[in-house]
Amino acid sequence: PAMYGERKNSLGLNMNIHSQADDFIAAVQQYRDKQWQGGPIVDGKTVETDHQVSITSPQETAKQVGRIYWGDKKLAEQALQSANKAYRAWREVPVDERATCLEKFADLMEANRNELIALCSVEAGKGLQDGIDEVREAVDFCRYYAKEARKLMDGEIQLPGPTGEDNKLKLEGRGTFICISPWNFPLAIFVGQVVAALVTGNSVIAKPAEQTGLIAYRAVQLALEAGIPGNVLHFMPGSGAEVGSFLTSQEDIGGVCFTGSTYTAQAINRALAARTGPIVPLIAETGGQNAMLIDSTSLPEQVVTDVVASAFQSAGQRCSALRVLFVQDDIADRIFDLLRGAMEELEVGDPLLHETDVGPVIDGIAKTNLEQHISDIQQAGRLIARAPMPDYTQGGTFVSPTAIEIDSISQLVKENFGPILHVIRYKTEELDDVIDSINGTGYGLTFGIHSRNETFAYDIASRVDVGNVYINRNQIGAIVGVQPFGGRGMSGTGPKAGGPHYLTRFITEKTRSDNI
Ligand code: GLU
Repeated sequence: PAMYGERKNSLGLNMNIHSQADDFIAAVQQYRDKQWQGGPIVDGKTVETDHQVSITSPQETAKQVGRIYWGDKKLAEQALQSANKAYRAWREVPVDERATCLEKFADLMEANRNELIALCSVEAGKGLQDGIDEVREAVDFCRYYAKEARKLMDGEIQLPGPTGEDNKLKLEGRGTFICISPWNFPLAIFVGQVVAALVTGNSVIAKPAEQTGLIAYRAVQLALEAGIPGNVLHFMPGSGAEVGSFLTSQEDIGGVCFTGSTYTAQAINRALAARTGPIVPLIAETGGQNAMLIDSTSLPEQVVTDVVASAFQSAGQRCSALRVLFVQDDIADRIFDLLRGAMEELEVGDPLLHETDVGPVIDGIAKTNLEQHISDIQQAGRLIARAPMPDYTQGGTFVSPTAIEIDSISQLVKENFGPILHVIRYKTEELDDVIDSINGTGYGLTFGIHSRNETFAYDIASRVDVGNVYINRNQIGAIVGVQPFGGRGMSGTGPKAGGPHYLTRFITEKTRSDNI
């Protein structure tokens, strides 16, 4: 079967080719000191509220990246009213036109790629390669959902009419979707949620993470430039406690699409349940306690490369990231030695530099919590390695990648969203307990296996309750249309982002039986 159909994923950039990389880095660096401005966008216009916040850079906490106005309940209500008026006309716009807007939006993001990558770096602390991948993913979401929507929603489905009736089934948007997105993929996930809701004929109020409103603002500007009507897409930066809570407790919304912590998803679920009025879908993509299991047949060098990428790339701030590595006892010492060596080589520092492997964590609160966890868990376990801290004078919320041996996954009470790897030795006879303990966390996002025993790998893969399994490779960086992404249990509701069923949750159905 054709994997892509006529659609191709966007191309990246080979950072190992100096002639390409040097020009690119210079172009991105030009934006280093730019001051960005943003604010709520309601009916196509930026609103200057009386609450403006300063955004600072995770790698240079004294440095202001820009300023953004925050919305409040009143403005959110105004946006909701406008969005609710607009969706009936928007859902009658032919799907091809809506899809074309997404494709134009993708082209505009590509045309503004360097600025978007710079923003990902200065506002969210993302490295250059992460920035390249982030723009690609945002672009791919647009083109992929455009194509899927055309397939799904083009025309009506003709049904049998035994009595001479004309019976038709039509798929259409549900109303206004509240899209609430995280800071760890401030462009890709923000865009993915918004365009999925739009292309299926919904209005949207998009609330970005508090830390990363500027990049989201830039994205919304481009979406409007691409032809999305201003009364259909509204942008509402602000505090989760005020704007987020307000929007998710309103009666007259069509659904909520959320990516972030399990805790917040549960709170949204309760808020939705406490409303009167229509029962609406919640699409939630949340955290994980992701494990990888390696047996003695695996290739140690490959294992360590994939472990380091899975646990420490993006400073471990991916919900897919590896948190708990289970190593078969026979090869544990060898793996620990190689891991120590690899971690000593990691460059922690300025994410806008080519040589940096690991940038900062998002903010001071995250750093404090992660350091606290490291000091607590270190007392219960044994330190394997910590990467050297950067020799960096600018200040910044860096947490050095850390690997700690512990005895059981049950010692981890919550997800630790940063560059911390927990390692557990297991003996072959303990394998069933290991699988039970992984399933017993209640999370179910990603899982990795390294083994050259095919039967073993497939058996384990089928027994672990997760959304994404990766065999003999790293367990991050799902690609749109290739590795549909998302978990189960406490890790999310599904359907999977970047997969063929995602759009179905944004849609409602109308049957028309015609006797005209
Ligand atoms: N899709 C991303 C990956 O596969 C993770 C998304 C997230 O962290 O929310 O690494």
